[in-house]
Amino acid sequence: MRYISTRHGSQGQPAPLGFEDIMLAGLARDGGLYLPAEWPQFSKAEIAGLKGLPYVELAFRIMRPFVGDAFDEATFRRLIGEAYASFEAPDVAPLKPLGDSGLHLLELFHGPTLAFKDVALQLLGRMLDHTLTRRSQHATIVGATSGDTGSAAIEAVRDRKTIDIFMLFPKGRVSEVQRRQMTTVSAPNVHNIAVQGTFDDCQDLAKACFNDLAFRDRHALTAVNSINFARVMAQIVYYFWAALKLGAPERPVAFTVPSGNFGNVYAGYAAKQMGLPISHFVVGTNSNDILARFFESGSMTMTEVVPTFSPSMDIQISSNFERLLFDLYDRNGKTLADAMAAFRSTGTLKVGANALTGVRELFDAGRVDEPGTLAAIADCRRRFGEIIDPHTAVGYVVAQQHRRDPAIPMVVLATAHPAKFPDAVEKATGVRPPLPARLGDLMDRAERVDGLRNDIDELKAMIDERRMAAAPATRSKVRT
Ligand SMILES: *Cc1c(COP(=O)(O)O)cnc(C)c1O
Repeated sequence: MRYISTRHGSQGQPAPLGFEDIMLAGLARDGGLYLPAEWPQFSKAEIAGLKGLPYVELAFRIMRPFVGDAFDEATFRRLIGEAYASFEAPDVAPLKPLGDSGLHLLELFHGPTLAFKDVALQLLGRMLDHTLTRRSQHATIVGATSGDTGSAAIEAVRDRKTIDIFMLFPKGRVSEVQRRQMTTVSAPNVHNIAVQGTFDDCQDLAKACFNDLAFRDRHALTAVNSINFARVMAQIVYYFWAALKLGAPERPVAFTVPSGNFGNVYAGYAAKQMGLPISHFVVGTNSNDILARFFESGSMTMTEVVPTFSPSMDIQISSNFERLLFDLYDRNGKTLADAMAAFRSTGTLKVGANALTGVRELFDAGRVDEPGTLAAIADCRRRFGEIIDPHTAVGYVVAQQHRRDPAIPMVVLATAHPAKFPDAVEKATGVRPPLPARLGDLMDRAERVDGLRNDIDELKAMIDERRMAAAPATRSKVRT
């Protein structure tokens, strides 16, 4: 399997890359996002042959074509097995029917940090460590988080000798549970940085590190946010998992995805390209509704971000959306690069009427405001006895608004454990969901965090200094 950038051809014609290269790089050097040159195909008979497999074996079969010869089969099976052994649910991602409504919750939050990001990051951390160890290399992750990505990434790479992680978050603007899930990890390779600024400031700082190619090469910078294709790959698996349980390949299935950066729902789109019979997707947003507005009008316009009960969806630009746009621009990297540059300067991007019609056949979208989110948490508890988190609640509402065919089962991706957002859940239901036992002492553990001004030179100096202080043996370089 070979990978290309969504902006390929915009800066000369680089050679296509293999899985390990794109996993280590995260973001392409031309500023684009990697994806496979062609999707692996699963015939109806092949999909039928996957029925009844345990999650780990299904994951192995779905992902094997993507990794090529990066891992031998036994190693890849072992890495997947170890990643999902860290989940508390024996079948990793339980699928729960909501009464006989035809709605189903796919619970993706049973990993160590209680959000769906663990599904991909627990595996990515192990794959990175394996590759770096084999190559005797070290990599440095620099990331920005508004909440869930930070803790999931830290948990995935803590204590690894091959990796250092610098995680930037906006001081005072993440929830206490989210902050503590990062700052109470006392591993020597974990560096938590509270920035005096907003999430956008953090993201700009991280991006500036990657745009300084000398700095990027000096530290072998790696991105593990959702633009890393390896995360998309791991997320494809649970679309197959849920659809197979609901009758695929003979019956089609619909999915609703509470969305922010469009990484989760894009993995579903990939599953569809691979042959899984998905009737349509419903994209759920909170009041930060740039995606919903796009699917309504074909035009994407940036606005200010407002804080909501579902902070992991409080974003202005959905970075993974570029992968869908790549198809809408007929896979022409040069035109897409021009459109993205224009979007950055004008704040608006439009697709043509034909492209919009095509995309609307597959995607519906809807938004839910703050009172609607709380009402949905209460409604789901009253009708079905299930307590859902505010992100899942957004999905729960829009799924019901966009059932195209009542005979087709609708799967709502449950992206976070309700205990991760106890204030909103308590406000909605009067019940404060307790933290699962393994996180029970989170509020009492000691915290470790450095402060930083919103200043790129200070950040680079901090990373240089920390990395120079590390043992020389861990300082070998890799160009990413
Ligand atoms: C990250 C996150 C989302 C948004 O997922 P995207 O892949 O960015 O669209 C939704 N819900 C929760 C709980 C998350 O952590």
